[in-house]
Amino acid sequence: MNVNPSTPAEPHLMRTYARLPIALSHGQGCRVWDTEGREYLDALAGIAVNTLGHNHPRFVAALREQVGRLIHTCNYYYVPDAERLASRLAELSGMENVFFCNSGLEANEAAIKLARKYGHSRGIDFPQIVVYERAFHGRSLATLSATGNPAIQKGFEPLVDGFIRVPLNDIAALETATANNPNVVAVFLETIQGEGGINPARWEYLRQVRELCDQRGWLLMTDEVQCGMGRTGKWFAHQWAEIVPDVMPLAKGLGSGVPIGAVVAGPKAAHVFEPGNHGSTFGGNPLAMRAGLETLRIMEDDDLLGNAARVGARLKAGLRKALAPLPGVRDIRGEGLMLGIELDRPCGGLTARAASAGLLISVTAERVIRLLPPLILSEAEADEIVARLSPVVRQFLSEHTS
Ligand code: PMP
Repeated sequence: MNVNPSTPAEPHLMRTYARLPIALSHGQGCRVWDTEGREYLDALAGIAVNTLGHNHPRFVAALREQVGRLIHTCNYYYVPDAERLASRLAELSGMENVFFCNSGLEANEAAIKLARKYGHSRGIDFPQIVVYERAFHGRSLATLSATGNPAIQKGFEPLVDGFIRVPLNDIAALETATANNPNVVAVFLETIQGEGGINPARWEYLRQVRELCDQRGWLLMTDEVQCGMGRTGKWFAHQWAEIVPDVMPLAKGLGSGVPIGAVVAGPKAAHVFEPGNHGSTFGGNPLAMRAGLETLRIMEDDDLLGNAARVGARLKAGLRKALAPLPGVRDIRGEGLMLGIELDRPCGGLTARAASAGLLISVTAERVIRLLPPLILSEAEADEIVARLSPVVRQFLSEHTS
């Protein structure tokens, strides 16, 4: 592959990503191979996308059957699998109904519109939504505006109005920022911030926010796009805090690699949209619905929540044992199979080094190595991640001083 930046390997693609010079060819389980035959252990799963790993026989058979039967849209006719999937998501979350779309940002965009409509229905003409420092919600204009990362907002001003930003896990800051403000309609947060560096909302903080939302009549909206769908060992990460939100955007792992997004709503938000308010040509299409349904069925039949909790704990313990003693490693945190290793120095180059060692990972928030492997990860594969990653980190730290 061409790795010379002056003659890019992809001259016809807009340069929106700094890709590694690897072209993936196929996958099996938690492994993928590139076009030159090199094997990688996939500890990233397309950023929490391939819930079932690669080439899962039952998942592939269901999709093949669906492709041969019907590929269509859903706006004019019923798609029976859409109601089935919505009812299952409502049951698992303790919520009520669902809007289907195609990605995380679309789910978040719909949630933001829903919160604004909710405000208008209560006589609030200029609704405001509380959002968080270091949050990531997507790259459409509204979701980018809700995102707490000035570096990726730069150049796209004017941003969308109507957001109030607060630090995570500080209830006093939230109360101060919203004091005497009658325009607040919702609090919108990632239960565990992903792009921001694997920063969990404290469970106690979530319970306090839930209480505040109840007192003030605000919607609590938990972006579970990255941390949801079993990744932390619960269906949805906020279930660790034993709360139920009013609005929950989902995407990524819900389709195990097939593009899908969903906004799940509880009773306070379930009837805000009326026909004509919002829509999507591909949202709820038969192929994506089949992918979502089959993902949920396999997760249940194979106890992938239990696996994420069990193998995730082993992986975290293994990483702690191997890496925590190293000077330069600040923290190893996360829940289930959503783990971050924070270093005391920028470590962007680590993804390429790990790939050379046969391991796919990512680095986020400059200093945090992020692991989001498929939920089918075995204990032996967890140990293999530790064995492949440790020498890479050790070597990196010895060559790069803080
Ligand atoms: N919300 C969160 C928490 C995310 O992690 C992401 C993607 N990294 C998004 C939203 C946006 O999802 P998408 O890329 O599917 O638009």
